[in-house]
Amino acid sequence: MDFTLNEEQQMFGQMFGDFMAKEVAPRAEAIDAEGETPSELLEQAAMQGFLGAILPEDYMGAALDMTSYTLLAEAWGRADLSSATVFHAHMMTAMAILAHGTEDQKATYLEAMAMGEKLGAFALTEPAAGSDPAGMLTEAKPDGSDYLLNGVKSWVTNAGRAGTYVVFARAPEGVTGFIVDADTPGLKVGGREKTLGLRGAEIRALYLDHARVPAANVLGKVGHGLRVALSTMDFAHLSLAALTLGGAEQALDLGVQFASERKQFGVLIAKKQAIQNYLADAKLKIEALRHLIEHASWLAVQGKPYSFEATMAKLYGGQAIYETANTMIQVHGGYGYIVDYPISRLYRDARAMSIIGGSAEIQRVLVARHVLAEAGIEVKP
Ligand SMILES: Cc1cc2nc3c(=O)[nH]c(=O)nc-3n(C[C@H](O)[C@H](O)[C@H](O)COP(=O)(O)OP(=O)(O)OC[C@H]3O[C@@H](n4cnc5c(N)ncnc54)[C@H](O)[C@@H]3O)c2cc1C
Repeated sequence: MDFTLNEEQQMFGQMFGDFMAKEVAPRAEAIDAEGETPSELLEQAAMQGFLGAILPEDYMGAALDMTSYTLLAEAWGRADLSSATVFHAHMMTAMAILAHGTEDQKATYLEAMAMGEKLGAFALTEPAAGSDPAGMLTEAKPDGSDYLLNGVKSWVTNAGRAGTYVVFARAPEGVTGFIVDADTPGLKVGGREKTLGLRGAEIRALYLDHARVPAANVLGKVGHGLRVALSTMDFAHLSLAALTLGGAEQALDLGVQFASERKQFGVLIAKKQAIQNYLADAKLKIEALRHLIEHASWLAVQGKPYSFEATMAKLYGGQAIYETANTMIQVHGGYGYIVDYPISRLYRDARAMSIIGGSAEIQRVLVARHVLAEAGIEVKP
């Protein structure tokens, strides 16, 4: 295995980092305070090709390979986790359509998504069905050549802003994915969730009241919705892992910067071994996480299964970013507890990363399933 970035990947990495440092990082504080990722920023990202990052050129995508995509997600996460989450939810919706859509569906939706004309949102979770999506209650009742969707989806990132939703509902044959246009009569968005962090991402419920969706908008096969959702999770896990890598790097940068300026007992606190230990442990976690991501994305680029590796990267990423943000607050002392210091925002944002895209507990179940498979022991959540 050779994870060395090729020339193109190196160039992309540089370009993503430069753009994010110039255009996104300076806005991170305002995005959090105002609770909104500016449309103008998303337009800029679309112009750079980021909103179609991994989509093929046929759909106006940038056709990045998975390694380059993780470099983009890492750079965005490093600059600002809120708007990076908006981007992530959009990309995973596009990936679901790319992987499971018909040619007509891909032609209709993906170009508009890549161009930033339509933001994507992925509606799987329900108030009573989170870790166990098979328990969803939202119904899809056949009605002539349409389906009527009734129910509530919760925790939908980008709801209210999205033009294209992928919604999962229970048809007579089983859970089924649907592509649902934002202007579908009967689809309404709920009030904004007031979240601890990731405040630049709009998270709302979706209310479906006899929302009429043509059968032509079924994503994948009828009754195969859980397969569609789970296969999209491989990409989602890797994407979120890359966001956490960027966030953890940013936390360490902030810790190093503070420790290199703050003096106590007449010397920089960076000279104190207790502080150095925090910085060293953070670096260790960051590099371990990077290797998990590199391995998973390398497998993806080779066209090999990467589900298990992506799950491990996401699981570890959620832990690594939270622990890093936590210890970097400690490095800041009391200043870390003041909202004016960006590390406190990062800490709030980091907390979501062990829940979004599947909780750490469920991801441990998936890892344990893999570990125990050879012993012939079946592991269920
Ligand atoms: C910021 C954010 C953005 C999100 N965006 C989206 C989105 O765009 N689209 C979407 O569909 N969803 C989204 N979600 C929802 C997310 O996927 C769910 O929150 C997550 O899957 C957990 O579901 P839950 O919240 O219902 O918790 P529950 O499933 O009720 O779990 C509660 C607790 O019990 C644990 N638990 C549950 N079952 C088991 C088990 N079998 N073994 C051990 N422990 C278990 C969980 O790990 C957790 O600790 C988002 C969540 C967050 C926080």
